[in-house]
Amino acid sequence: MPLLDKFGRQITDLRISVTDRCNFRCVYCRSADPENYRPVDELLQWDELERLARVLLALGIRKVRVTGGEPMVRPGVEEFIARLKKLGVQDLSMTTNGQLVAERCHALIAAGLDRINISLDSLDPEKFERITRTRKFASVMAGIQAAQASSLRPVKVNAVLVRGINDDEVEAFARLARETGISMRFIEFMPLDADRHWSRDLVVPAAEVKRRIEALWELVPIAHERSETARKFAFADSPGEIGLIAPVTQPFCGFCSRIRITADGKMRTCLFSSEDHDLKPLLRGNASDQQLAAFIEERVMEKEEGHRINEPGFAQPSRTMVYIGG
Ligand code: SAM
Ligand code: SF4
Repeated sequence: MPLLDKFGRQITDLRISVTDRCNFRCVYCRSADPENYRPVDELLQWDELERLARVLLALGIRKVRVTGGEPMVRPGVEEFIARLKKLGVQDLSMTTNGQLVAERCHALIAAGLDRINISLDSLDPEKFERITRTRKFASVMAGIQAAQASSLRPVKVNAVLVRGINDDEVEAFARLARETGISMRFIEFMPLDADRHWSRDLVVPAAEVKRRIEALWELVPIAHERSETARKFAFADSPGEIGLIAPVTQPFCGFCSRIRITADGKMRTCLFSSEDHDLKPLLRGNASDQQLAAFIEERVMEKEEGHRINEPGFAQPSRTMVYIGG
């Protein structure tokens, strides 16, 4: 039975956050202040995550993205990827900050990872340090190069643009895509940051990004699935691709096919859900797979029609991106 919500959207895309820990502290995600991580015993074990994935695959999930926090910091993530592949996931990807990718790229591929998204918010090492509050620019660049030299395809590079911080780098990122053949994705800053500094003025609209790139190079639209988050474009005269992800200025909720599982076992039917659904009591109680599936089906049926960022009275969810898993 496919997993459907009451608006007729079919859920085929699962994001699993395997940890709330991260070795970076990006300004648009985590707080500068130390945060309390969930105690380890509150996080789902690999067996529990695998069981959830198995139940969800039987409900029609086809794409699985492993994320976090930073997924590469949880020991055993390669083995987990291998377990997901063995379950028959058709499209298995990871979103990572890239710091540990160069040294572990081959292990990820051997485990069965199909593709990878690496975050990179600046091409200037000093600015990178200000954004991520780490000095790992060189490691991330090495990670991107290792991924590109490997069989992972496509390699996507994600940049969250924040006005006044890195919006001056749009053209440089586009040039990187042209020179290296990567898929460069520009993501609008969403109100999911721990420090609650988000404001509409800090969002760099996707339309502006497109206009600025088009002023330099001709872009050709690429067909995409309706549920995809990115509007994609090729360059008319070079390799490389750009993707514009505009959840704030051009919401794509109407065709959303995603649900998320947090590292502590909560199912979220929207990034901006005001409540999440705790699967841990079922996983750790004696619920059968059928009961687990029935619970998930019921909650998915109630998936939000869309986020309300642009509506008066919008309230930022209490969970921030590092806990939800992007
Ligand atoms: N640590 C990994 C990474 O950074 O790629 C995976 C987890 S991170 C939460 C997933 C994605 O969410 C990254 O591409 C990150 O840039 C993005 N992200 C985090 N906070 C965001 C925000 N407030 N608005 C938009 N994107 C955000
Ligand atoms: Fe960590 Fe990723 Fe959040 Fe940056 S965006 S703090 S790398 S989880």
